Amino acid sequence: MTQLTGKTALVTGGSRGIGAAIARRLAREGADVALTYVSSAERAGAVAAAIEAGGRRALAIAADSADPQAVAAAVERTVAGLGRIDILVNNAGIFPYEPLEAVALETFDRAMAIHVRAAFVAAQAAARHMREGGRIINIGSCLAERTGGPNMTVYAASKAALTGLSKGLAQDLGARGITVNVVHPGPVDTDMNPADADAADAQRQGLPLGHFGSADDVAAMVAHLAGEGGRFVTGAAISVDGGFSA
Ligand code: NDP
Repeated sequence: MTQLTGKTALVTGGSRGIGAAIARRLAREGADVALTYVSSAERAGAVAAAIEAGGRRALAIAADSADPQAVAAAVERTVAGLGRIDILVNNAGIFPYEPLEAVALETFDRAMAIHVRAAFVAAQAAARHMREGGRIINIGSCLAERTGGPNMTVYAASKAALTGLSKGLAQDLGARGITVNVVHPGPVDTDMNPADADAADAQRQGLPLGHFGSADDVAAMVAHLAGEGGRFVTGAAISVDGGFSA
């Protein structure tokens, strides 16, 4: 018996990187897990298969977070397929990086749709089904707290919005015993931010710990918040960033 036995989770963007690590970790803690993807059907299927091989149920759901109907439908498919939803992790993300003068309005709208609107829609849909003890965990970014350089206005703004979203939801859902928090990762070695890319050394220099985090480092915090350890934590913005924001 592990701490999430009997619970079910939905992780958006669970096919790769941080989301895949979260999906696997929640399953190791005993949860059945649904995960969404937009383009990596094979990788999403592999994460689901690994979860099933570990004895939990899993669902891989194609759902573009830019499409609010697809996001709401993913929540309903989770409930229909796994019977309930106890944990929602809004993780799907993109990294627009462009000089201010080159940023198209479509880029702004897309980042807001994937990072903010999708998190709102999923939370609203999931809250209808969640019972006392429910958990909503949004994956933000250390760049929401300290942007640290140019070309990231849209990304930072969309991730900073998740802090306000999380605090508002914490107020809305607290009376029902549902907690809502945002986790702000720092540089984590994934396809989005490879630790061997040209930009990596500059990031390492800004980190008191001097090295990138792993997706499992973020998953450990999410598992903590999802479990008993998160019972009295709500409306919080928690950095898992190697000290980037220190
Ligand atoms: P990756 O690029 O490695 O993975 C992104 C994941 O999000 C994939 O599963 C991808 O699905 C999914 N995704 C992207 N767009 C959509 C969409 N429109 N609809 C549904 N799913 C989508 O990123 P990371 O794992 O690094 O990042 C995960 C989260 O952590 C993001 O929100 C990111 O902003 C945040 N973060 C990451 C940091 C880092 O250094 N890596 C630092 C701070 C925050 P598919 O495989 O189908 O494309």
